[in-house]
Amino acid sequence: MAEIIQAVRGMNDILPQESFVWQHAERIMRRVLLSYGYQEIRTPMVEKTELFKRSIGEVTDIVEKEMYSFLDRNQENLTLRPEGTACCVRAGMEHGLFYNQIQRLWYTGPFFRHERPQKGRYRQFHQCSAEVFGLTGPDIDAELIMLSATILEKLGLKSLTTLQLNSLGTAESRSEYRKRLVHYLNEHKDQLDEDSVRRLHKNPLRVLDSKNPDLKHLIANAPKLLDHLDQASLQHFETLQQYLTQAGIAFEINPCLVRGLDYYSKTVFEWVTDKLGAQGTVCAGGRYDTLVEQLGGKPTSAIGFSLGMERIILLMQQSEHNHKIDSGLHAYFITDSEASFPAALKMANYLRSKVLGLRLMLHCGGGSLKSQFKKADKSGAQYAIIMGEHEIKTRSVSLKNLREDTPQQALYQDELAEYLKLKIAKK
Ligand code: ATP
Ligand code: MG
Repeated sequence: MAEIIQAVRGMNDILPQESFVWQHAERIMRRVLLSYGYQEIRTPMVEKTELFKRSIGEVTDIVEKEMYSFLDRNQENLTLRPEGTACCVRAGMEHGLFYNQIQRLWYTGPFFRHERPQKGRYRQFHQCSAEVFGLTGPDIDAELIMLSATILEKLGLKSLTTLQLNSLGTAESRSEYRKRLVHYLNEHKDQLDEDSVRRLHKNPLRVLDSKNPDLKHLIANAPKLLDHLDQASLQHFETLQQYLTQAGIAFEINPCLVRGLDYYSKTVFEWVTDKLGAQGTVCAGGRYDTLVEQLGGKPTSAIGFSLGMERIILLMQQSEHNHKIDSGLHAYFITDSEASFPAALKMANYLRSKVLGLRLMLHCGGGSLKSQFKKADKSGAQYAIIMGEHEIKTRSVSLKNLREDTPQQALYQDELAEYLKLKIAKK
């Protein structure tokens, strides 16, 4: 027999019993984003490699070791997008979206990073992201964070997640801090791992973002960036905290939060959970006021966040809320013979058009009434609808509740439609 080809390591199939949870999550995210006035943007999955090198930063996990880069047939250096902010900025500049305009944008889709696959960390993963361009103050930071909080709340994840905040200040204020940090890390160089030693001089702040548990203590005792913020960043951070407090959004300050990409400044935040082991960040974001300029555009303030869909889904599967997601069939339609099938085919479609949201499966493949009833039961549907020779003759349809011990009833077609409408509305 021929060898069976399997999926690429770290790239997952989302099977039917799971996809309904995804659809539910995506539906809620879309609805909340729309309610905040955000508009969807869709960009290609592949971009020029240079875009990510210039935006994310050369000395980052992503650019150093995680990108899927390749030369295409024209010898062009391309990369499967590892994140979306750079793509969104590229598209916005290319189409003039940032000229004297405020943009509130969102997108969702797959991203690619060659990481070591483990629970909550994959090589193809999905994000749902929001980005705002053209606003400078802490007001939009507060609103954007509120948007992320609302999404988590509507997904039933509020009690499982905590908001962590920090400010990275401006590049200028970071340079003074950087010296102190390098000094501190040099003093403890013997405790650093290989990655951190390499970063010590190229990009020392990145050491604070290390996932190595052996460095936890060292990082916790490092000098704090928050103690070296410039006046404007400090004011921005304080006002944001006031807005959040007044809005009733609880948060913790985490002075070690630095984020894994180079382009952040001022506000950074993460929603974390202790339910997913080491992959505890389900949403991450921050301000990136210099990125547009860095990519060749006019200076444009910006802030955004990304929700990690796989981690959100894992968390939803652990929460009670998940059990309330109703995705099953309402009804399973059966016939008693081949001769009755054309009428059933027509009738099933009539019901679908009459009853908004009806999930109705028509039995195909023949078989006895008994075996069809068995299939109806197994399908999980609440009702079996029967259309056989008798029903066709009497211009009626039979309905059997598969989950309650009530007798089968005969109804006229429109009666049945009305009945199903009421039953579905109640659910
Ligand atoms: P981490 O610290 O977990 O590596 P990150 O800082 O690299 O995350 P971001 O680039 O900020 O992550 O991406 C935003 C979110 O996307 C993360 O908080 C996480 O929820 C999700 N995410 C990132 N990388 C992966 C991955 N390889 N697999 C699954 N989800 C991911
Ligand atoms: Mg990462």
